[in-house]
Amino acid sequence: MARVVEVPSFALVLLVGSAGSGKSTFARDRFASTEIVSSDHYRGVVRDDETNMEGSADAYELFHLVVDKRLGARRFTVVDATNVRARDRAPLLAKASRHGAPAVAIVLDVDGATCVARNDARGDRPNSRIYVLRQQESLRASLPTLASEGFVAVHVLGASDIAEARVERIGR
Ligand code: GDP
Ligand code: MG
Repeated sequence: MARVVEVPSFALVLLVGSAGSGKSTFARDRFASTEIVSSDHYRGVVRDDETNMEGSADAYELFHLVVDKRLGARRFTVVDATNVRARDRAPLLAKASRHGAPAVAIVLDVDGATCVARNDARGDRPNSRIYVLRQQESLRASLPTLASEGFVAVHVLGASDIAEARVERIGR
């Protein structure tokens, strides 16, 4: 049966998953492009290359600013970034709290081997194995306590749930 993920119509949604778990695909299929704030997108903005990690600090500055501006304007916002570490989620949760936005986590819990294979197949992310394994470790460490970080809901979707999962917005 298709999983239904309910999210408040004003919310900060954090996608959580390693590179190759399908975050950008999931977001593109379910949310308006203007609702999605992607860390890779801002890497592209500052370095002409979404995979250039040297630009990460600059990219994150812009990415956080956009999240802040959107929540300040009460705009439904989806964060497309790995979000696998508590220290990456904390500043986003703080912004949600400051702006009175309920925060929802949608975890794309896809095994590391699958993520590595998908990254290899796209060809533009060499050596993804080391990143993916580290991200998988962070995600495993996070899962038991994610719900206590301040999310109103944490939805964990396994690989077999993701394609069919529907997102329903509730409230006005
Ligand atoms: P992200 O790194 O988490 O943003 O992952 P992407 O959404 O960019 O997906 C990584 C690669 O996996 C892309 O080539 C996608 O086409 C592919 N992909 C994404 N979701 C799925 C899925 O549900 N099934 C399969 N087989 N491939 C997927
Ligand atoms: Mg992506």
